[in-house]
Amino acid sequence: MKKKQHPSRRQFLYNIGVAGMGLPLLSAYSKCNEANSNQEKMANPKKGKLGIALVGLGNYATNQLAPALQQTEECYLAGIVTGTPSKIPVWKEKYGIPDQNIYNYDNYDAIKNNPDIDIIYVVLPNNMHAEYTIRAFEAGKHVICEKPMAIQVEECDRMIAAAKKAGKHLSIGYRLHFEPYNLEMVRCGTKNIYGKINKLSGGFGFRAGPSQWRLTKKYAGGGPLMDVGIYVIQGLCYTSGMEPIAVTAQEGVKTDLERFKEVEQSLSWQMEFPNGLIAEGHTSYQDNMNFLRAEAERGVFELTSAYNYTGQRGSTPEGPMNFPHINQQARQMDGIARSIQNGEQSIVPGEMGRRDVKYLQAIYEAMRTGKKVSLV
Ligand code: NAD
Repeated sequence: MKKKQHPSRRQFLYNIGVAGMGLPLLSAYSKCNEANSNQEKMANPKKGKLGIALVGLGNYATNQLAPALQQTEECYLAGIVTGTPSKIPVWKEKYGIPDQNIYNYDNYDAIKNNPDIDIIYVVLPNNMHAEYTIRAFEAGKHVICEKPMAIQVEECDRMIAAAKKAGKHLSIGYRLHFEPYNLEMVRCGTKNIYGKINKLSGGFGFRAGPSQWRLTKKYAGGGPLMDVGIYVIQGLCYTSGMEPIAVTAQEGVKTDLERFKEVEQSLSWQMEFPNGLIAEGHTSYQDNMNFLRAEAERGVFELTSAYNYTGQRGSTPEGPMNFPHINQQARQMDGIARSIQNGEQSIVPGEMGRRDVKYLQAIYEAMRTGKKVSLV
């Protein structure tokens, strides 16, 4: 039997539109997970915490996720998967990871036989997300996959099908769903605290260095839209509590033709919502921007620093927001681990990742064709 969800979680699912997605996995999850969670706790030596293995020890895994896993209550860093042997001694020493929990890309599938690993966290370049997620499900593990979930919707469908077949959870690394300032935007927007939203906009951009996989279409699937524009898409949806029905988009001028041979340098797009609101998004690999702003009937509520790992800033018509600055990644991984333990639907499920990949593709189509692209 499915465990009762905390009302605020149910409300949040509703707010972000996931409740209306018809989540096909919900019943499969709830049936299998209660039974599984007891087994998982018994199998796990670290006081019932779920063991996480990080796949791909790049920047994000090294500097954010591994340190955050030192602060988590429901999960811990149990293993690593790396193609770079020189990284192993450093990680072993720093985090006390035993030899039998260290894998490479050739013996990755053998994780199947390792009871220490409950969750595989895929932190690889975007074009590798689908393959490593599906192989993790084939190994019988739960998965957290970094954003964007994949490059094409068809890959997302295969990932979701693999989760369903394995009876395991699939969550996306959407850390801002666990971050207090962004949750306040959700509350103000979806509860009409300051009246109906008349204007909604967001932007996230930074200057990307040269020779990165992020600038190669094959690996990244696109430019800043895939990498950081996706946060703005998320922000516009969770603040409005709606799903767009159509998009239009315009590519920005390329001032650096060498760096942006394959992907856009910057991009602006518009999302049309069912109530007539047209929200505006911006992203760039050249210019710094970091905001989420709603103009409502009774004033403005906004984040002037919205998407970074820390240092969120914001205000409402009542004054500055003042929330604790928490470790977003620790809270995210604990939240996901808890949903697995309790047999509850993740608040950042694969279906949400798929939805966003659909929007990403629609925005690129609108950019290429110059036409409005319908989403219904
Ligand atoms: P990175 O380049 O620093 O790390 C990528 C890792 O993948 C490296 O360890 C690299 O060795 C490994 N790798 C394996 N095969 C590779 C190949 N063929 N080509 C290139 N690298 C290969 O990247 P990152 O910044 O850690 O990003 C990894 C993923 O995490 C991306 O999907 C990104 O969108 C996501 N990410 C999410 C957040 C967030 O806030 N949620 C932040 C940063 C990155």
